[in-house]
Amino acid sequence: MKTADHSIHVAIIGAGIAGLACANALSRVNHKVTVFEAEADSQTQSTGGLRLAPNATKILYHWGLAEQIKRVSFKSQAVTLNLYESGDLLGHHVWNEEIIKETRGEYRCIGYNSLQKVLADAALAAGASIRPKCRVVDIDAEGKTLTLESGEVFFADMIIGADGLAGVTSHLVVQERETQDPLGLSVYNAYVPKATMLQHEDLAALFNDARGSVTTWFGDSISAIGFRYGGPESSEGYTIQLFAPGDSQGTWQDAPKPESLDRMIASMANANPSLQKLMRLSTTPHHVPASGSSLLDETEWVHDSGNVAVIGDAAHPLPVLVHPASMAIEDGAVLARLFLHLKNQEQIPSFLYAFQELRQARVKSIRDQEAGNLTFMMLPAGEMASYRDADLRAKQAAGRNVLDPVSDAGDDDVSASLWQEIKEQFGYDAEDEADNWWVNWGLLRERAKGNDHFSHNLQVQVAMVEAC
Ligand SMILES: Cc1cc2nc3c(=O)[nH]c(=O)nc-3n(C[C@H](O)[C@H](O)[C@H](O)COP(=O)(O)OP(=O)(O)OC[C@H]3O[C@@H](n4cnc5c(N)ncnc54)[C@H](O)[C@@H]3O)c2cc1C
Repeated sequence: MKTADHSIHVAIIGAGIAGLACANALSRVNHKVTVFEAEADSQTQSTGGLRLAPNATKILYHWGLAEQIKRVSFKSQAVTLNLYESGDLLGHHVWNEEIIKETRGEYRCIGYNSLQKVLADAALAAGASIRPKCRVVDIDAEGKTLTLESGEVFFADMIIGADGLAGVTSHLVVQERETQDPLGLSVYNAYVPKATMLQHEDLAALFNDARGSVTTWFGDSISAIGFRYGGPESSEGYTIQLFAPGDSQGTWQDAPKPESLDRMIASMANANPSLQKLMRLSTTPHHVPASGSSLLDETEWVHDSGNVAVIGDAAHPLPVLVHPASMAIEDGAVLARLFLHLKNQEQIPSFLYAFQELRQARVKSIRDQEAGNLTFMMLPAGEMASYRDADLRAKQAAGRNVLDPVSDAGDDDVSASLWQEIKEQFGYDAEDEADNWWVNWGLLRERAKGNDHFSHNLQVQVAMVEAC
């Protein structure tokens, strides 16, 4: 594996998925990483599961973590769509095996804690240091120092804020942010343990679904999603998420509050009996904003000093659907592929701005698609919702995958268009994109700055491209 010629000391704030993925990626290319985490040991607190799309598992598999991930996660091969109020089936969509294979990843559901542990173990093995119970209370961006709650001051060549939506780095770096959820929605996120699911016939059927379907319930201005998570070597359960109108100022770091359970139960009065039972049996939910940020391309992710940048939720809160953790993993992968080329300290700001340029376009496109999906799932009762339901039912009756885009041109075009969409989301290879950026732009920029070493490198790479 190639490593950076010039190794720097990187301080990462936050040992969530973004911070730990970044610690893995940067350690693998020879940078010295110290992660500061405010919590004592967040791995002991069970919080339910999240979904890893093939674009994220492909990165983890590339880092040699395939076995570790498979031991603690569940492979999902399909989506089931039901009506929220009646529980009636609208249809199924089975992921095309060949298409998923081409992405070089898998669709997996995993407990937050299990993913965090796999990433923490791998980061430690790659040489990173993780310091729990170290809350960062101040950052001097110009001086490149962090101050911990204990008073300790820590110097680094570069500081990465992976401390979530309400973290200190986000306040320092990101200039514009909504004070309210852009779609006026919040999500209640809870889980039901496996043993409880198996005690009820209807819930056991959901849990034991042969294709590991992610189930969605489409309602009148409300919706829910449920999926099984975990694997043979971790706790297993069923995550349930309720998307409902109303704001939440909560964060993932807040301990779930009993009143959130009361509010979730009050919001679900119109749900079908089986879904109501599922939610009543669930743990106290986290209650957080649902739709992410609409200002992703209007915000700065790099501090003016050029020494500090934000990643993960600190940079780009996303709709709580498929991609928040997957985008956090992609962030770390891209940052490391850029910092693989580091030759001297002076390049740090330009590499951080390159990261922002590369990631903002990708994250915004995912955000827009996911916000559209959220709206589709909770259309208010009326003409559009009736049209949606009739269309899904017709495809189901015809034996087709119900999420195939509508096309008048025949099935071939439908598959081509479906493949296009999936390729964009799941087939994306963040590491390849960073490599392409480097060859197409990064080297040219270095040459424009008169860096002789890069001029030489550029000539070699251009010669290689021409030879191909
Ligand atoms: C405990 C927890 C449970 C979650 N459970 C789910 C779930 O079940 N389903 C789901 O879809 N998503 C869940 N998420 C959210 C999901 O993980 C994120 O949306 C996504 O992975 C991006 O995460 P992140 O690492 O950018 O931010 P976060 O996940 O918010 O992680 C930020 C980390 O920074 C730490 N931190 C914050 N401030 C400081 C500071 N000043 N000094 C040092 N450390 C600090 C926090 O303790 C936290 O560990 C959870 C997040 C957390 C923190």
